[in-house]
Amino acid sequence: MLIDGEWSGGSEGTSEDVLNPATGQLLGRLPHASAADLERAVVAADHAFASWSRTPAIERCGILLRAARLMRERSEIIAHILVMEQGKPLAEARGEIVGAIEIFEWYAEEGRRIYGRVIPSRQPRTRHLVMREAVGPVAAFTPWNFPALTPARKIAGALASGCTCVIKPAEETPGTALELARACVDAGLPRGVLNVVFGVPAQVSDFLLRAPQIRKITFTGSTAVGKQLAAAAALHGAKRCTMELGGHAPVIVADDADIEAAVKLCVASRFRNAGQVCVAASRFFVQQAVYPEFLERFVEATHGLKLGSGLAPTTGMGPLANARRLEAMTSFVDDALQRGARIATGGKRHDGAGFFWQPTVLTDLPDNALAMRVETFGPVAPIVGFSSLDEALQRANAVPFGLAGYAFTTSAATAMTLSDQLQVGMLGINTLGISLAEAPFGGVKESGYGSEGGTEGLDAYLSTKFLAHTT
Ligand code: NAD
Repeated sequence: MLIDGEWSGGSEGTSEDVLNPATGQLLGRLPHASAADLERAVVAADHAFASWSRTPAIERCGILLRAARLMRERSEIIAHILVMEQGKPLAEARGEIVGAIEIFEWYAEEGRRIYGRVIPSRQPRTRHLVMREAVGPVAAFTPWNFPALTPARKIAGALASGCTCVIKPAEETPGTALELARACVDAGLPRGVLNVVFGVPAQVSDFLLRAPQIRKITFTGSTAVGKQLAAAAALHGAKRCTMELGGHAPVIVADDADIEAAVKLCVASRFRNAGQVCVAASRFFVQQAVYPEFLERFVEATHGLKLGSGLAPTTGMGPLANARRLEAMTSFVDDALQRGARIATGGKRHDGAGFFWQPTVLTDLPDNALAMRVETFGPVAPIVGFSSLDEALQRANAVPFGLAGYAFTTSAATAMTLSDQLQVGMLGINTLGISLAEAPFGGVKESGYGSEGGTEGLDAYLSTKFLAHTT
């Protein structure tokens, strides 16, 4: 852990195993923070806030840019750590590290453009100013599916705005986040500005949410946990929240779409990171006229995916992150079969060690099947047909989630209807490229609130102060 500028093994000696999901073997042991360790982290973040929030933006941003440079120099090492603890193919891990570096660079640059505003005053000799101030020390919680990208969003956003941070990355994938923290320390980040702790998630979040010094919570993870944290944040000091929760992205493929291009992108999206991506294309609605062709091509492309260790150069899809995801995949497939679905390919755990699940395509599912209602967060693609655009929209919007959505069409009218009526925070039309450092990333409905990335990502860490000044 990193507490008040020092690397720490925890003061109580408690720890947990970190496993390689491709082999099930032990990679190392991760220390847990005691209550005293957490207190030290909070006090350090609070103490450091006084000076960090007043440090000129140009200096803060210089440190973040240096950290980004160090990450780039070390990216091969970090990518290997990421693959070993998380399982995704090395090429995906390398891409993720590049994304994390770009996020540091974006926030470093944009952190120099935190502007206020002058409002014309009502009286002479009076100024009306709107000022932006850092919110305060932030508690951040990140999941295991993007061990570099998600901590980067939270750390760089908080630090560029002048906030300090106590982050609890996922216990399954600690090494990657620690490498980001190491780059920040080596870049000259003052002690206490960034603290990294681990432990039993509910215990750590309970401590940090109750701490009066913490003024903001940022969480990426499941909707169920996000709701609990948001409720506790309200209770313990009305703390600001950014909640990036689960999704279940619909994909609407109209009969005028370029089917070959759509299938290529959809297969890549559904099985990237073994499907463990909150914005993954995950419910496929295909217009009847092109449904047979789409399904056939999708299944064919899925057959081409080679399962294996993320470190093997031929691997197309790695393992799931942990045994819990295997159990979840079993329940999605069993439920679908009970409701009359057909398995077009896959449908089972892959033989051998590690947490591998076959890339799976399900068809003929009713909309009340679990896989259509709940985020599968794994390599399972439910594909169903539709007749009219209105019907597709109604079925796509029928879940409580609204993170990402996608559509494939060559009709400007269809694209406009979809962009107006799909209930999502991010929409890709004929593209799946929606996660960019310079663009806002966040959802609506039970997928949460607040944005990360873009100028909106800085707003999340800033409060507004109105100043009326008469001389
Ligand atoms: P989970 O809800 O147990 O954990 C999700 C993440 O939240 C983990 O990183 C975990 O350490 C953390 N967490 C759990 N309880 C917490 C608490 N009380 N305080 C702070 N952090 C806490 O789920 P899981 O079994 O790891 O994953 C299952 C589901 O979570 C998936 O099906 C998916 O819907 C969702 N998930 C979403 C994302 C995302 O990017 N939005 C990422 C990972 C998991």
